[in-house]
Amino acid sequence: MTESVLRNLPSIDLLLRKESLQPLIAEAGRDAVRDRLREVMAGLREEMIGDSSAGASELETVIEQRLMSSLTHRSMKLTQRVINATGVVLHTNLGRAPLSAEAIEAISSVARGYCNLEYDLATGKRGKRGTGFEEMLRDLLNCEAVAVVNNCAAAVLLTLNTLAEGGEVNVSRGELMEIGGSFRIPDVIAKSGARIREVGTTNRTRLSDYENAINEQTRVILRAHPSNYRIVGFTEKPSLEELSDLASRHNLPLFEDLGSGCMVSLLPLGITDEPTISYSIRSGCSVVAFSGDKLLGGPQSGIITGKTELIDRIRKNPLMRALRVDKLTYAALEATIAEYAAGRAMKNLPGLRALFATKESITERAQAFIQRAKSSNGGAHLEVIDGFSVVGGGSAPESQIPTSLISIVIGELTAEQIEEKLRLANPPVIARIIDDKLTLDLRTVAPSEEEEVMLRLIEILAENK
Ligand SMILES: *Cc1c(COP(=O)(O)O)cnc(C)c1O
Repeated sequence: MTESVLRNLPSIDLLLRKESLQPLIAEAGRDAVRDRLREVMAGLREEMIGDSSAGASELETVIEQRLMSSLTHRSMKLTQRVINATGVVLHTNLGRAPLSAEAIEAISSVARGYCNLEYDLATGKRGKRGTGFEEMLRDLLNCEAVAVVNNCAAAVLLTLNTLAEGGEVNVSRGELMEIGGSFRIPDVIAKSGARIREVGTTNRTRLSDYENAINEQTRVILRAHPSNYRIVGFTEKPSLEELSDLASRHNLPLFEDLGSGCMVSLLPLGITDEPTISYSIRSGCSVVAFSGDKLLGGPQSGIITGKTELIDRIRKNPLMRALRVDKLTYAALEATIAEYAAGRAMKNLPGLRALFATKESITERAQAFIQRAKSSNGGAHLEVIDGFSVVGGGSAPESQIPTSLISIVIGELTAEQIEEKLRLANPPVIARIIDDKLTLDLRTVAPSEEEEVMLRLIEILAENK
């Protein structure tokens, strides 16, 4: 009996010629489809031993369904675009800041061919990587010098290694933090070849604690911005001005690991704990390091700003060669900073635009979305509810930004089931479950992506009619 069932299995060649599989083959390639088909058929053969009930046409349907999910599953493993409906603006798992149209254009233009990365067009001779960008940012921030590396973690490692290798780094016990993705201040200090000199206590560190810890081994005073946690209650720490005053009296550099590093004040959003880069520079820090892909809104990178003499030493460190960035990063950074220089950042950088979008504007979009979905929402219940978006990316951990969420109930499906169906869609839609309800936050969904979310919802509805 088993024999006859196995004979019902169509051949792979036959399947590959089926009309219904042609779109899949066009999209995923013939070889990929053939390989997946082989796996699917092998699985079916195993299952069919002892089960003779399946007919030939039924089998083909099963094969096609399995092929589909196998191909989708495969493509999920590759880096691909997703739609972020979580309302977490700088979602580290989802690639942090979306780039501006200009930055995307800049990347694609230099990616296509060659560029003057290390070539001086005026003289026709070898040029220095990143000079243009560094001058541009220097002028905008009103600081002495700028260097660019791969990310902020690299910036901290390189700066400490340059300034403090073999010596001591004074840092408050309240700032011995972990940022996530295993970036830990004590570990980075150790890897830089410096020794950590813990100062003060977890909740209170006074200027005199820093001062008493200074000795002939001290090379740097480090201030690390508590990006993803807050110490509240009975707390104390010296201001940046006081610290920089102390550092210069002892002829030591004050280095701040700022993390997010915003160019525009977040005070209008009620966020009081994300100081701007300019504030750190004005307060007298000798070196400030921050990420390019957090609040700045650019590509992954670490930007080091500070005094010319120190930045020059940092640039000459052999580690710099290992941590430098490529032409794509410079192209995108340049385009991003150009938006700030032209006063268009709030309008043209998607991250900032999402962050500063008013609750009213999001409510309007959510209501319009529900209206459009209504025509086809048999069995679905969509409504606008109050909620909160967050900055994310380890910035402003306590700050919640009021938003309007779309809450979705579809027939008997659980929130987890809807979440999974959206996540496995093409493109994947990443949603949040709040109080057992599936929610979409349009704050982080580009208007051009709304239609894609809608189509997927309609598909899920149709499946559950
Ligand atoms: C995010 C962050 C880092 C790490 O930045 P990456 O660009 O992800 O390497 C380091 N320090 C602080 C304070 C941060 O917030």
